[in-house]
Amino acid sequence: MLMGSRPVDAWGTTRPSPHTKSLPADARPRNRTLLLQALLDGPQSRADLARVSGLTPTTVSVVTAELIADGLIEEVGRKPASTAGKPATLLAVEADGRHVIALDLSDDDRVEAAVVNLAGKIVARRSIQRSGETGKQTTQAVVRLARELSRTLDRPLLGVGVATPGIVDDRGTVLTAAHVQWTNEPLAQRVSSALKVPCYVANDANAAVLAEYRVTGGEIAGGNLLLVRVGAGVGAGMVIGGELFVGDHFAAGEIGHVVVDEDGELCKCGRRGCLEALVSAPLLAQRLAAVADGDRAQLLEQAGRHLGKALATLVGALDLSEIVLSGPMDLLDDRFRIAALETIRNRTFPAVGRHVAARFSSLGDDGVLLGAAALVVRHELGVV
Ligand SMILES: [Zn+2]
Repeated sequence: MLMGSRPVDAWGTTRPSPHTKSLPADARPRNRTLLLQALLDGPQSRADLARVSGLTPTTVSVVTAELIADGLIEEVGRKPASTAGKPATLLAVEADGRHVIALDLSDDDRVEAAVVNLAGKIVARRSIQRSGETGKQTTQAVVRLARELSRTLDRPLLGVGVATPGIVDDRGTVLTAAHVQWTNEPLAQRVSSALKVPCYVANDANAAVLAEYRVTGGEIAGGNLLLVRVGAGVGAGMVIGGELFVGDHFAAGEIGHVVVDEDGELCKCGRRGCLEALVSAPLLAQRLAAVADGDRAQLLEQAGRHLGKALATLVGALDLSEIVLSGPMDLLDDRFRIAALETIRNRTFPAVGRHVAARFSSLGDDGVLLGAAALVVRHELGVV
C-alpha cells in the first residue's frame, strides 16, 4: 500500500490534520475531492458546484479545468435555463476516465476478478479456478491474473484492489488468511511492484461493507452499517459513524469463531459449535444437499438463529439497526434472514432490537469485488 506520512483514517485515506494550518497547496487535493464527490451524486453546473461545496466560483473553475484535463470529469451538456440567461454547462464524472482491477479471494475454489469503472460498474470479468495452491503460489496467481487483466485495458489503470478472508493490516499485509495459508504476506506491496500501480488489500467483509455503504450514498441514519459475509468463513464488516471500524488489531468483525452452540459441530480451530462450523457457505451447501426438500426450511432457520445469536451482543452493544447479509444468493433465503433477525430482536434490549432491520445485499454476489474496487477509488481519489 502506498501511503504518505499524513494522518490516515480507518479507510487509509489521507486527511488534512485539524491541528495544522491549511496552506493553499494542501487545499488542492481536498478541493478536487470535494468536487468529485459532489459530481458522483449526478451532473452539476459550475455554479451548482460552488454552492454545494462552498468554494469560490474562481476555485471551482480552476479545479474543474484540472479535473477535465486529467480525464476524471467531462462536460456532458447544458442545464435548462431557468431565466433568460445562457444555459450553464453540466459537468459529470467521466465513468471510464479510470479503470480499477478488483480481485475477490473469498471463494474456496476460485478467484473472481473484474475491471470496474469509476461509476462502480463492472465492465469485464475473469475467473480462475484455484487448485489447492497456497502461500506464495496464491500470491503469484493473484499477480498473474491482475497482470492479464491490465493488458486488456484501454483506459488508465487507477490501481488494484484485493479482498480476502483473514486479517489484513493498514499497509495491505495479510497477517493471516487460513484458507490460502498466508502469514504476514505483503500482498499489496507485491502486486504494486509487479504492476507499477497502487494496490490496496482488505478483508472481504470490510470490502463488502464499503461497497454497500457506497451504494447508499452514505445516507444511512448515524452512518452505521453492519454487513455479515457468509462465504468460505463467516465475518462481519462495520462502518461506524461513516468510518470503517477495524479494531485495535485489524480483526474487528471476526465473528466466525464465536461459539454459538457448545454441543455443535467440531470446528477446524479445535472447539465445538463455532459460528463458522455451523453457517459457512460450503458447510451449509453440503448439509442442504444431504436433507430432503421438506427439511431445508428447518435447516436454514436453524442457521439463521445461530447467526442471530452471534450478532445479538454486537448489535446490542453498539446499538446498530442496519444489517446487511451478503453471501451466495442460491443458498441463503428469507427464512435464514428472518430467523436471524428474530433472534437478534429476542436477545437485545427492546429499545435497540425493535429498530433492527436485516436485508440482503443490493449488490448480490458482486459486493466483495465492488468493495475491492471502491477501496482503490477511496484511497486514490478520496471519494466514497
Ligand atoms: Zn472455530
